[in-house]
Amino acid sequence: MQIPKCVKQHSFELDPEVLEELEIISDRYNSVKNYIYSRYSGIKSLLLIQNARKNIRDIWTKDNFAEQWKLPARYWKMALEEAVANIKTEWSNIKLKTKRAVYQNENLTEDERYFILYVLKADKLLYAILNRESFDEPKKLMELEIREKYIFNLICRYIRKYKGDVPYTKSRTFSLDADMYNYKTEDGVLYINIMGLKRGNRLKVKLRDHNIHKGNVKIVLRDNSLEVHKLKYVKQKKATNKEKVVGIDKGYRTLINTSEGNQYGEKLNEMLSEETERLNKINKERNKFYALYRRYKEQGKTKKAEDILQNNLGKKKYNKKKKQHDNKVKSYINCELNKFIDKEKPSEIVMEDLTFVSWKNIFPKHIKRKLSRWIKGYIHERLNYKADLIGAMTTIVNPAYTSKVCSGCGKFGNREGDLFKCECGEYHADINAAINIKKRKFDSEIGLYTPYKQVEKILEKRIKEVV
Ligand SMILES: [Zn+2]
Repeated sequence: MQIPKCVKQHSFELDPEVLEELEIISDRYNSVKNYIYSRYSGIKSLLLIQNARKNIRDIWTKDNFAEQWKLPARYWKMALEEAVANIKTEWSNIKLKTKRAVYQNENLTEDERYFILYVLKADKLLYAILNRESFDEPKKLMELEIREKYIFNLICRYIRKYKGDVPYTKSRTFSLDADMYNYKTEDGVLYINIMGLKRGNRLKVKLRDHNIHKGNVKIVLRDNSLEVHKLKYVKQKKATNKEKVVGIDKGYRTLINTSEGNQYGEKLNEMLSEETERLNKINKERNKFYALYRRYKEQGKTKKAEDILQNNLGKKKYNKKKKQHDNKVKSYINCELNKFIDKEKPSEIVMEDLTFVSWKNIFPKHIKRKLSRWIKGYIHERLNYKADLIGAMTTIVNPAYTSKVCSGCGKFGNREGDLFKCECGEYHADINAAINIKKRKFDSEIGLYTPYKQVEKILEKRIKEVV
């Protein structure tokens, strides 16, 4: 199997004029993307984006609508495609989340569950329901007994719930297809020539290595240099261990705990709390300055007010610090995941869906919103990636009650701090959960979508049977 890997190529410092033009391209490129996001990510556009070439691209070309972007056609077409692809990905995530919620919803009958899952796969029906339009029901669905109004509303509610804000990008990046750039070597130095704004004009950028990439690449602008990002496909290694199934659990304090009894990323929580504290402090300070700024304004001291806006309320330093911290967290996560993979060499990693875990115990609400969303996604993505690289499988299991039952005897126990206490003994609480997660893989009664309450019943029945 082949695995995608991002290869980065760095440039030397850019000429100011070249940098300026690249920044203009990137700004306009993002304007196209943001326009597409704001216009086509809603429920009204669900069907339209399935054929964006005909429904958007061709029309933009025909009525000269695209001229407003002041970009060569290749650029705006690239931006359009990228934005549409992102909207489609968002839709499949929303559907996946809805599907999970449907499986967990115990108020639904079998027929109703089937109906909703069917609709999630048929965009035309989904579109009609979301937009309150009438539609012809396929024969298969007509035989079902469902509470129609209730179910239609439920579908709308789920989609609304899982649909995030309209995406918006400010990133200094844009993509190029193979015809929008070329490489050239002069006196042993490699240059990349990037399509500029004017017809036939290419922007020449001196590179630090000699790798010549082909096909689509992404340009990422840094302070005064750039990076060329290329998705390469590398060959997957054969798993070293023939069969080694490892269960993992996202711990209370640590990044992950394994069924082998090991913990990784014990400093993660500390790192995140420190940042939270720092942000709180900064926000307090900023609020003080805001008050001062408003007072000066009221008093007509415009100059003083402007100074505060410039010197104390600027976002640049704030954003830079935040980025530094995010990068620190990312590299820590990567490093700890590598340790896990190197040490345990799993052939299969069993876990719950990390992007769906609630981290409610770890952070206060307002912080959780800010931090956890990207971190959860990031851990999930990196773990899958690293597992792929060593040829290990990842399996998602149902996490219901895995932190509440004893991995030794199967009875319900209690958590006290880091300890899990059961009649039969005491265990490390997170390791106990990791072992239970591993067991779920082999559990023939509890499937990924078995509802929470049913899991409880199954577990109770087992305890009785043993006694
Ligand atoms: Zn026990």
